[in-house]
Amino acid sequence: MIHTAVLKKEVLEYLNPGHNENFVDCTVGEGGHAEEILFKNGPEGKLLGIDLDPYQVVVSQRLQVQFKDRITIVNDSYSNLSEIIERKNFKEVNGILMDLGMSSVQLEGTEKGFSFKMEQGLDMRYNDQLTYLNAEKIVNEWPEEKIEKIIREYGEEKFSKKIAKNIIEQRKLGRIKTTFQLTEIIKNSISPAYQRGKIHYATRTFQALRIAVNDELENIKKVLPQALEILSSGGRLVVISFHSLEDRIIKNYFNQLAKKQKIKILTKKPITASRDEIKENPRSRSAKLRAFIKI
Ligand code: SAH
Repeated sequence: MIHTAVLKKEVLEYLNPGHNENFVDCTVGEGGHAEEILFKNGPEGKLLGIDLDPYQVVVSQRLQVQFKDRITIVNDSYSNLSEIIERKNFKEVNGILMDLGMSSVQLEGTEKGFSFKMEQGLDMRYNDQLTYLNAEKIVNEWPEEKIEKIIREYGEEKFSKKIAKNIIEQRKLGRIKTTFQLTEIIKNSISPAYQRGKIHYATRTFQALRIAVNDELENIKKVLPQALEILSSGGRLVVISFHSLEDRIIKNYFNQLAKKQKIKILTKKPITASRDEIKENPRSRSAKLRAFIKI
């Protein structure tokens, strides 16, 4: 399983890396985007890559063979961006990239229970050292209302009420421990038509749990002002989101800054993947790219 970086051409167009400029990739993942940037910002330009998942850090370290000391990779959360920049003494930042969410390698190549297609424990943490909460704790320990709320809000799941109710019923009989147990509960909570739907019926609930476990929306809120602060004037921020709640946070923040004349928005409407890209890489289906230049 290899992860295909989304909107590659568009990321380069909006980040516009020039010779000897410096970039931060807040979600370096397997390094697909980072590599493209490093091809453009030579011979002296640097890239600082951040990823919360220690496995992803190992994977993207492959780039060190090729790009040597032009690339530094840090295992941390982008919500600590300012501190990481300070610690690594990474100055003069010309561009920052964030490609939110998770990668296909994490979805299908790890044993953290991100996928309903494999029987695994319900964990879903990108980093089990830095995060305490996991998906098993949520489904077995949270009150029904709180479970219902995250499935509805983070999953935009119309059967959230029924799913939450059935989780509570089921856990009375014993702890819910695996992906398949959860998928079975979801299956018994939805309509037959939904069960045969185009998107697998467990997708939305699994997404909701992943967002809650990793506090993904809070992290985005935390990183945006730090990104603005760190950028040199004329520097660019490019953010790719995969979920309407994420996109709303980003859009509102950009609009607020544009009003204060701190930035110039480069994307009136979010940029989305072409039909060809969606055909090749289904993950790009929901991708939305927004970009600004710091004034
Ligand atoms: N652009 C990458 C793919 C990124 S997938 C590529 O081309 O390969 C999203 C990545 O964000 C995942 O590797 C995930 O571990 C990471 N991630 C999620 N939350 C994070 C956080 N708070 N801080 C840093 N990285 C995070």
